[in-house]
Formats: sequence, structure tokens, C-alpha cells
Amino acid sequence: MDLTRYVNTFGRYLQEKYGERIHKLSVNAAFTCPNRDGAKGIGGCTFCNNRSFSPGSTNSSNEVSAQLAAAREKVSKVRKARKFLAYFQSYSNTYGDLADLKKLYDEALAEPDVIGLCVGTRPDCVPDPVLELLAGYQQQGKEVWLELGLQSSFDSSLERINRGHTFADYEDAVKRSHKFDLNLCTHLIMGLPGEQAKDTLISYRKVLDLGVRAIKVHPLHIVKGTQMAKEWKQGLVPELSMEDYVDTLTEIILAAPDDLLFHRLTGSGVHQYLLAPEWVKHKWDILGAVYKRLETANNHEIIAKS
Ligand code: SF4
Repeated sequence: MDLTRYVNTFGRYLQEKYGERIHKLSVNAAFTCPNRDGAKGIGGCTFCNNRSFSPGSTNSSNEVSAQLAAAREKVSKVRKARKFLAYFQSYSNTYGDLADLKKLYDEALAEPDVIGLCVGTRPDCVPDPVLELLAGYQQQGKEVWLELGLQSSFDSSLERINRGHTFADYEDAVKRSHKFDLNLCTHLIMGLPGEQAKDTLISYRKVLDLGVRAIKVHPLHIVKGTQMAKEWKQGLVPELSMEDYVDTLTEIILAAPDDLLFHRLTGSGVHQYLLAPEWVKHKWDILGAVYKRLETANNHEIIAKS
């Protein structure tokens, strides 16, 4: 199975650009998030248990360089890896004092084999000075990606999951990021309560209309220690089926403009926290099913053209 026949993956983009595989090293810089510390809310998004979706993150009490060293060693045991992106993944990695952010990013980029940054955050956490800081690294030739968690373009869904920001906040963040010419990746979650799988297709089109360069999609994971887990136990959160996920993801891929990059096509949550759906554990089965659907669509296209 070679998904890159049909999907413009971030991995392939990096390989073509740098002539070798580039690996991400997760950094946990002990950030919090305005949806947790009271600035926007205290409960956080109802699906959020950061320990479950930052499986690779290291000990946040360690210096960035020490975390990178530990993550590098781990990766190097299984893969020949010479160049890396520092992935600031846990919580909102632009939520802090500008000087503190600069110190953290600088520390990561001071590593000779770290060629850039991926910075995950919320749309309401990217003031212009932070965008300017990130754009500055890009202008120095670093590979910089700002990853904005949107999850859904429907305000009703964002409210239901206690997201604490609106689609308009996201639009504003994207437009300002464009002014700084930043590489932008948007995260979407399929299967949020109150949504059908196809609703993600609507969110996706709205995101594309705003002109992002990359997308990260995954199915909703209901994990322990979250408000959503409580709602799920009460029968208030219907589970997305693998069939619906595969169908809609295939449509998303087929509708993708040629230059859109896919940073992720499914989740990789830690199994120990997962409550449902069970099938999300089987990443390769999901990708295999998507690949089959893409092959079929391709064969139909060839037949239609002949
Ligand atoms: S998902 Fe992100 S924005 Fe939501 S509570 Fe968790 S860290 Fe904050």
C-alpha cells in the first residue's frame, strides 16, 4: 500500500524538499491553555485529555534540549534519522509571554539537527507578535508550521464541546497568519457529538476556502478522564463508525487541491486511555480501507476516460 500515490503527505513533502526523511520530536514545554486556566474556561474541551493525544511527549519539567535528546534517541533506535522538526504539541504552544516563547523556540532551533518547528495551538492564541516571531524563523530558512486546532466549523459544535472559541476566531487567525505568509495546518475531528461524518466535509471546504496549506484529520477519540467520557457513559455521544470515517475521509482526499498536504489521516491516541470507538486503534486497517476506496475511485476514473 503506497498511500502517497493518492495523498500528498507531509512526510513526502519533507522528503522531497530535504532529500531525506524528517522526523518530528515532541516537546512538552509545560504550557497550559486559556480554556483551562480560566481565561476562557476551566474545564477545557470536553474531549481533551492531553496525555492521551500527546503520546510521544516527554517530561515537561526537562529543558527543551533534554527532551529533544530523549526523543531523538527513541526515534534513532527504530529509524535512521538525521534531521528533525521540534513539535510543540501539548496544550496551546503559543500561550505565553513573547520573550518566553522565543526562548523555548530558540532553544529547540539551536540544536544543529533541528531544521524547524511545528507549533500546535488554538486560533484565539495567536496574536500578531507571535505570528511575527514564527515568520521570522521561516525567513531564516527554518521549516515552520503553525497548527491550528479548529475541530469543526460549526459554532454549535464548538459550543457543545466547550471549545471556547468560534469559527470567526479561526477565520481571523488564518487571515492574520496569511499576512505573515506562515505555513498553516488545520486540525479537524470527525464524529463530534451532534455532527454526522459528512459535516466534516463541510468544515473542510470552509477551511480550504480560507487557503490553508495542510490538514490533519482524525476520528473523535473518547478517552478516559474527560467530560466527553461521562457523556458517552450516559449514552449521549453516538460513536462514529469506521465505515463512515473511511467514506468521508476518502471524499476529503478526492476533493483535495493538488498542493494540499495531509499531516495526518487518522489518530494515534494512546490505547490505555481510549474508551471508544474500538476501531480507531487499528490505524493500518483504516488506512488500508481508505487506500482500497481510492484505488476503486481511480479505476473508475480510468475506465470513464477510456
Ligand atoms: S484540546 Fe487544546 S484547546 Fe482544548 S482544552 Fe485541550 S489543550 Fe485546551
